[in-house]
Order: sequence, then structure tokens, then C-alpha cells
Amino acid sequence: MNMAFENFREPEQFEIIFDKESGLEAVIAIHSTSLGPAAGGCRFWTYDDIEAAKIDAFRLAEGMSFKNALAGLPLGGGKAVIRKPARDFHRDTLFRAFGRAVARLEGRYVTAEDVGTSVADMLVVSQETKNVAGLPTQDLKPGGDPSPWTARGVFLSIESSVRRRLGRELRDCVVGIQGLGHVGFSLAKMLHDAGARLVVADISAERADRAAVELGATVSSADEILSAEIDVFAPCALGAVLSDKTIGTIRAKVICGAANNQLATDEDGLRLANRDILYAPDYVVNAGGIINVAAEYLGWTSEQAKALVEATALRLNQIYDLAEASGAATHEAANRAAKAIITSRRETSMVA
Ligand code: NAD
Repeated sequence: MNMAFENFREPEQFEIIFDKESGLEAVIAIHSTSLGPAAGGCRFWTYDDIEAAKIDAFRLAEGMSFKNALAGLPLGGGKAVIRKPARDFHRDTLFRAFGRAVARLEGRYVTAEDVGTSVADMLVVSQETKNVAGLPTQDLKPGGDPSPWTARGVFLSIESSVRRRLGRELRDCVVGIQGLGHVGFSLAKMLHDAGARLVVADISAERADRAAVELGATVSSADEILSAEIDVFAPCALGAVLSDKTIGTIRAKVICGAANNQLATDEDGLRLANRDILYAPDYVVNAGGIINVAAEYLGWTSEQAKALVEATALRLNQIYDLAEASGAATHEAANRAAKAIITSRRETSMVA
């Protein structure tokens, strides 16, 4: 292994925050600032202990470095995770305390929404720090909920992957979506408008039923959707759904969705390649949200952000081409390309 890539997952810096008064228990992981301030959302989720939260934060932060590098953003990668308190808590007090923790990092980390957090939470965070994006937008400027932008990038990626792997258009395909939250439901609407038939699953029966009523989707169970008779599987819930236990049962020929860290391990990417399933690396296709966040933070126009999101399928096809040319699995090709961008910048700044 190239020495520069060893221990790549280890972050440059991490902070563990305990704030007794608010009940905040959080981890902020700054994976890399080689390309700019470490940017990545804040997850609010149930973790068994702070160690589990730390492992998740490290993995997600590395993914953000790769995502931002391949999207061509002048940003490094970071992530925050907050443990959902087991006891009663005051949400605004908790997010104010989190905002103070972000402020103490003096711009090395920029936060935004992720699973379990909302525009309202980021507004609270903004009372303590300016290093936050995903705030309400005005005058058509980038900002607000990043998920429709994420959904758009995933939609374009599915459309392109289906053409590449199956030689078909979306109107001739069945797409299975696991998770109908902010991104998943938006994506379902786009696919429906393009004529695709949908099979959906969500642990919330209400969300699945809404897709059935509004989009004519067939409802499956959260587990069975993996082995359903579908052409494309779009994971849009949580990570690690592609594992040694699930991959053998998958019938879809394309996997392309929004969820972060879909592969339980790197070996699972090889398992998919060996089964001739085209896997669209998650952080390549789900960059639309962070592009919108970056545009807001860096003061870009909506047109600049839109152009980068619309180019998502182009970037994905470059990764597919690299994988084909080198005989690597698609996730390996993406990892290599991202690491090369980050490492070359790191080496350039060391020389300078
Ligand atoms: P969300 O919390 O709004 O939605 C997640 C949905 O998944 C919920 O409806 C939930 O009920 C459902 N769900 C949870 N476990 C499930 C299971 N086992 N089976 C089926 N459904 C299940 O989150 P979101 O913002 O839509 O994000 C979805 C995924 O995409 C996450 O992995 C997130 O990290 C990733 N992502 C989101 C964005 C964004 O812009 N929001 C950007 C990049 C990546």
C-alpha cells in the first residue's frame, strides 16, 4: 500500500464534547483540511455509547473528504454526531451547546444538516457560530434544506447508470427505494415523473403509504426490498446495507442511492463487482446537498451550484471509466481518485 494512504481514516483532529448542563454528548471529527475547511453535516442519532458515536463520526468524516474532493469543492471533510439523550432534553439548549463547540474550532469545521437535524436546528446553531450552513435562504440564493439537491444528483446518477448497465431508460425500469425521508421521497417523485415504476420501503408505514397513494408505488418491507424483483436498488436510509449477508440476495443490476457508507466493508464492494452489479459509489452520487451547503458558505450563486449538481452523472461516469480501465471495483476507483486529489494538495502545500 502507498504509505501516503496508510491510516487514511484517522482524522486530523477530533473533539469529544460533554456538556452536563445541556446534556450534549457529541463527537466532531475533522478528517482533512487539505482542500479547505472540513465541511460535513451534523447527525443526531441514538448511539449505544460515545465510542460508537466516535466510530461513526470518523467513518462519515472520511467519506466527506472523499465526497468534497471528487465534487471539486474547495473543502475538506468533517462530520459531527450528537448522541440523542436518553433522558428529557431541551432541543434548542442542546444545539446552542453544539454551536459553541463548533465555534471553538474557529472555522476548521463547518456544520450543516444530516440525518435527524433540520434547518430549524441549524438556525439555533447559527446563534453561536457563523460556521454553519443549511440556513433559510433568501433571493433564490443557495441555502436551506440540502436534500432536494442531493435527490437531484442521485436521480441523474440512476438515469445514467441504467443506460450504462442495462441500455434502458427509466420508463422501462423498476426502482426500489429503501427510506422515504427527505432525500428518498424527493427522489421517488423525480423517478415517478420520469416514468419509472417504484417499489418502496420505510420503517414508517405512513411514509410508505404516502408513496403508494401519491406515486402508485408498491410497498415492500424494509428487509425484503433488498431481494425484490427490481432493476435498481436505491438505498436512502442508513449505512451498511450492503454486506456479506445481503449481497447474495440482491437481484437488482444497479445500486445507486443517497445513503452514506452503504458498503459495510470494502470487501462488499468487491462482492458486488463479482456479481456484476454496478455499484455507484455513494459519496460520488450524493454530493448535491454538500454542493448546495458549500455554495451557501462560500457565497456562490445558485447557477454555480446547479451546474456542479447537474454534472454529477458526468463525474460518476468518469469513475466507472476509471474502474473499467484499471479492472478495479467502482468503490476502489472512487477511493483512489479522491485520495489522489487530497494527497496531491497535501504534498503541494508541504512544498509551498
Ligand atoms: P431522513 O432521516 O430524512 O430519512 C431517512 C428515512 O429512512 C426515514 O424515513 C426513516 O424512517 C427511513 N428508515 C430508517 N431505517 C430504515 C430501514 N431500515 N428501512 C427502511 N427505511 C428506513 O434522512 P435523509 O436526509 O433523507 O438522508 C437519507 C440518507 O442519505 C442518510 O444516509 C444520509 O446520511 C444520506 N445523505 C443525505 C443527504 C441530505 O441532503 N439530506 C446528503 C447526503 C447523504
